[in-house]
This record gives sequence, structure tokens and C-alpha cells, in this order.
Amino acid sequence: IPVDPFDIVIFGGTGDLSRRKLLPALYHRWVDGQISETSRIVGTARSEMTTKAYRAMAKEACETASGANWDATAWKGFERLIEYVSIDATAPDGDWPALKASIADAPERPCVFYLATSPRLYVSISEALGREGLVTPQSRVVLEKPIGTDLESAREINNGVGAVFAERQIFRIDHYLGKETVQNLLVLRFANILFEPIWSRNYIDHVQITVAEDLGLEGRADYYDKSGALRDMVQNHMLQLLCLTAMEPPNHLDDDDIRTEKIKVLNALTPITGEAAKRITVRGQYKAGVRGSEPVKGYLDELSNGHNSQTETFVAIKASIDNWRWAGVPFYLRTGKRLPSRHSDIVIQFRPTPYSLFGAGNDAVNRLVIRLQPDEGVRLYVQIKEPGPGGLRVKSLPLNLSYAESFTVRYPDAYERLLMDVVRGNLSLFMRRDEVEAAWAWVDGLIDAWEQSGEAPEVYAAGSTGPLAAAMLMDRDGREWYQGA
Ligand code: NAP
Repeated sequence: IPVDPFDIVIFGGTGDLSRRKLLPALYHRWVDGQISETSRIVGTARSEMTTKAYRAMAKEACETASGANWDATAWKGFERLIEYVSIDATAPDGDWPALKASIADAPERPCVFYLATSPRLYVSISEALGREGLVTPQSRVVLEKPIGTDLESAREINNGVGAVFAERQIFRIDHYLGKETVQNLLVLRFANILFEPIWSRNYIDHVQITVAEDLGLEGRADYYDKSGALRDMVQNHMLQLLCLTAMEPPNHLDDDDIRTEKIKVLNALTPITGEAAKRITVRGQYKAGVRGSEPVKGYLDELSNGHNSQTETFVAIKASIDNWRWAGVPFYLRTGKRLPSRHSDIVIQFRPTPYSLFGAGNDAVNRLVIRLQPDEGVRLYVQIKEPGPGGLRVKSLPLNLSYAESFTVRYPDAYERLLMDVVRGNLSLFMRRDEVEAAWAWVDGLIDAWEQSGEAPEVYAAGSTGPLAAAMLMDRDGREWYQGA
């Protein structure tokens, strides 16, 4: 459905995120006819550049991102929407009048300010927009992750941006929530009668959430070394996945209903502090090893600034949710760099049957695997009889729903969905202030415990499945990580 005409101003319009995700996402929405001819896209950054040069940069970015879907004719129409204005967002005498001239003539239409810059600039850009009179009731501001590096810095950003924009105008983006399979989790849970009755401690033994990357730092060393896996992945993406898996059914699908259910889960997470951190969390850091068959450097050798970093590139956590539905059900979270492959999945492991009718060795359990990437899909492992005349042997096999096989349409990138939600003013897939702060409060407690213990991360070889302690974390509970199929 086409959206009403809108303006979008991308701060950091020349950066990596804009080139790889935002401009291609807008281009694809244009190709699909969702963006009107009178909408406007204004890229802005400090670099001096003409609109012509910016369009050329955007074209290269969109063509690269589109691959076989590139449509040169459509591009000719799309590029007419694009303009570039150079502004140093931290300089009081930045060229705000030029930006004003581009967009201020249509205050009645939605105007999206997308802050694809360092989070250090979020408050000063918001203040400048307020000061220059560019904020109207129709304005929305999008904040990229990470929102701060701890609870205190997150509050500063939320206070600073909140002084200019109302909470309903602030879209804190977590692109995981725009993924088709993540939204499918809601549909799977709440549009099928099958799952909800057994979606609790009564039938679920435990849950595993894995976000594995095979890449290393890829030029992001400065950012990553200050952040680490817990802040970079767990505080946002993984806790969001945990919330969607564990939350109660929302009353409706819009805005605050979903967010209200998610915050209840975050508030019910058992804090991990003191000695508990040693028992139920694992930190790792990769050393040299392989990626496929290629040798790759260790983390410390990828850093430019020395060899003594204790930043974790792997984390495993046994989390618990203190509420009626989930008491006693562990949620094992695991994420890391330089693991054997890139994949993300949520595994719901059900309890065994009360009695093993088919004898020893035939006691496999039901398992629901939601694969978020790559090859998105859902697998429900059920027990079936192995064919053959000799005895009654039971085998665990998946009922397999592959997105690629079931739908031949192009998969929209998460940013396409989320950008159009911003334009429409739909907040349901964006994080509310209290969610971000609750997530930081939980993460800060764990970081404090790690700092107090002073223990170095356990080293694991690049290309391995992570530190031995992560396997032990499961083994101690008589469980094991799902290895995929
Ligand atoms: P980046 O490549 O370093 O780009 C930063 C952008 O900000 C550039 O366009 C830069 O252009 C502009 N900029 C810097 N200082 C400025 C100033 N004083 N005034 C105006 N513009 C300024 O960063 P990125 O990777 O695109 O990331 C942007 C944000 O998205 C960050 O918050 C990051 O954490 C988040 N994010 C990125 C990704 C990703 O895949 N890249 C994924 C998730 C979240 P000039 O130097 O010309 O000013």
C-alpha cells in the first residue's frame, strides 16, 4: 500500500549503514510503488558533496545491494527524490538554513530524521533540530543502536532526545524486529492454537537463543573493543528475541500493547550479580584459527592498539525469568564472533514424555527450531517410526517449513519494513524508553559482576564452537547446545 508523501533526512547519509541498508531499503520501497513521487530524501553529513555526487554514491550503493534485482529505469525516477546538504551537526553555525530550505515547506507531512551517526551526536542533533524550528508534531526521529553504553549514558540520550521529541515521536530501532522470521514468531505463537497451551514451564524444558557469526571485527575494532558481545548483541537483539519468545499474548498488535508485554519480561529477568556470574555466564575471546579453510588472525592481532584487551567476543548466559509462566525454565543465550558459521536461531526444547513406551534410546524430545538466518524457516522435530520390519525404532525428524521453498517472493530487508513503519507512525516494532533502560539495568549488573571478578575471558580458537566453558554450562544441567541439522 503506498504511503502518504513524506520527507526523510538521513544524518550520517554517507556512512556505512546508509549505503548498505537505508538507501537500498528506500530504493526497494520505491520500486515496489510504496513511495510517492513527491516524497523527499535528504542525505546529510559533514563531507562537502554536490547532490549529483551524492546521487552517484547512492546509485552505486543501491546497485550493489540489489544484485540481480537492480532496475535501472526505476532508479531514474527514484534519484529525483534525493538531495544532499552538508552539515556539521556539532557546529552551531552548521548549514541548517539549507536543510530548512529543503523540507520546511511541507510541515503537514511526516518528516523522519534518521540519526545514522555515532550515538554521541544524538542529543546535539536533536537540540539543533529543535532550535532551528524543524520539529513539528509530524516529525519522527529514529535512533540507531547502541543507545548508550550503559544505563546512565542511555538515560542521558533518552533525556536529551526526549527534551525535543515526545516519546511517541522517538523510534529506537532494532533491526532484528524487522526480520520476517522474528515477526513470524508472533504469528506462530498467537495465530496457531497448537503452541500456546504448551508454551510454559509445564511443557517446555528450556529455551536456547543463538546468534552466531563467522566474521571477526571487519574494520569495527574501535567500536567493538569498547563494547564487546554483551553490549553489542545481548543488550538489544538477544533480549528482544527473548522477550518475543517469553511474553504474554498482547491485547492487540499495535504500539504499546506489544511493548508493554515485552517490558514485563525484562523486569522479570533474574539479575545476575556476584558469584552467580561465574556459575551461569561464560565470556570468551577468539584466538587465531580458521574461517572455513582459511587461516584467520586472533582478536588481539586484529586490534590496532595493543595486545591486552579483555573484551569478550563470545558470551553464553543461563538466564531465568521470574514469573508464573517461566519459573524454573532456563533461557540459554549464546552469541559470538568467529564461530563456525553465521546463523541465528531460537530453539524451544519440550519436556520428555512422562513414560518411555518405546524403550531405552527411543526417548528423543520434541523441539521447535525457529531459524532466523540464513535459510529462514521453522522446524518442528517429532518422533516417527523408522520404516522397516525389524522392531519398532523411533526416529526424531523435522516437519520442515522453509521460507525459500514456501514463498518465491523477494524477501524485503528488515530496514524496508521498519522505515515504512516509521513513516506510518507505527511504533510496535521499536523499543520504548523503559525497555532500553530495563535491558541496560540487567546488563550493567552483569558487567559489574564481571569487573569485580576480574577474570579474563576464556580463549577459543577461531572456527571452533566457542569456549569449553560454554559446553560445560549446558553439560552441568544435563543438556547440550542445538547444533543444527
Ligand atoms: P559510519 O560509517 O562511521 O558513518 C558515520 C556517518 O556520520 C558518516 O556519514 C559521517 O560523515 C557522519 N558524521 C560524523 N560526524 C558528523 C558530524 N559531526 N556531523 C554530521 N555528520 C557526521 O557509521 P555507520 O556504520 O554508518 O553507523 C552509524 C550508526 O548506526 C551508529 O550509531 C552505529 O552504531 C549504527 N549501526 C550501524 C550498523 C552498520 O551496519 N553499519 C548496524 C547497526 C547500527 P562525515 O564524516 O562526512 O561527516
